[in-house]
Amino acid sequence: MKLATFIAAAVALSLTAAPSLAQNKSAKAKSGVDKLYILNCGEGIAGDISRWSPGVNVGKSMPFVDNCYLIHHTTGWMLWDTGVTDAIAAMLEGQAPADPRMTHWRRPKTLASQLEQLGVKPSDIKFLAVSHTHPDHIGNVNMFPKSMLLVQKAEYEWPTPLGVGRFKPEHPVTKLEGDHDVFGDGSVMIILTPGHTPGHQSLLVKLRKTGALLLTGDAVHFKDNWDNRGVPSGNFDKDKTAASMQRIADVLAKEKAQLWINHDKAQRDTLKMSPQFYN
Ligand SMILES: [Zn+2]
Repeated sequence: MKLATFIAAAVALSLTAAPSLAQNKSAKAKSGVDKLYILNCGEGIAGDISRWSPGVNVGKSMPFVDNCYLIHHTTGWMLWDTGVTDAIAAMLEGQAPADPRMTHWRRPKTLASQLEQLGVKPSDIKFLAVSHTHPDHIGNVNMFPKSMLLVQKAEYEWPTPLGVGRFKPEHPVTKLEGDHDVFGDGSVMIILTPGHTPGHQSLLVKLRKTGALLLTGDAVHFKDNWDNRGVPSGNFDKDKTAASMQRIADVLAKEKAQLWINHDKAQRDTLKMSPQFYN
């Protein structure tokens, strides 16, 4: 081989090698969460908000919302909470609670239709995590029989009044005992926040542009409740609830995260709903 030919070949090789290295680098840099959608998983009226702040606002009702959060990680989809059951969408007057102080739920849109609008099939959901097992959070768990359920062991094993399981025994499940790094890269972290229920959990999501978000579940129900550290009278454990609120405050400070309160309508009214998304 002549020297000129050799040099030409070496230059060509380095030119072809360079972009592939760059591609590898950018592919690596792009791993993580690239989209977070807020889905409308219910709207309602709480009959008496003093349930969430004993002695305060007695007899005062308040509009509530219920959110689900659909998260796209470069390695798969995750759904956080499933809202009230889609069956409520077909009820003209919504679902009235047995106790008028509780929440009267309506379902303006089904969860199924919102996933369909985004082209996401239930079988595409790799991880399904719920903050806790109250009906306004687990209403559609059975729509995802193949998704890996991420739930605290303490919540999974919490006895129901009827003595039956909170989930179908055949549903794939990972029973957690504390915090959990969902995708193994720190971008989505389940944070143990017990108190509202025995194994209540919250979710820390790190987005590239938006930054860190802490999704409360029901560790907090609305802003006033958070500002005054109100512990709902119906909570499973008062001291653990207070400790979990402090833990959330610590995580917010450490991660410089925004607090997104699931049931807070005033806050949701300021946020972008699906099909718009956060990245
Ligand atoms: Zn709730």
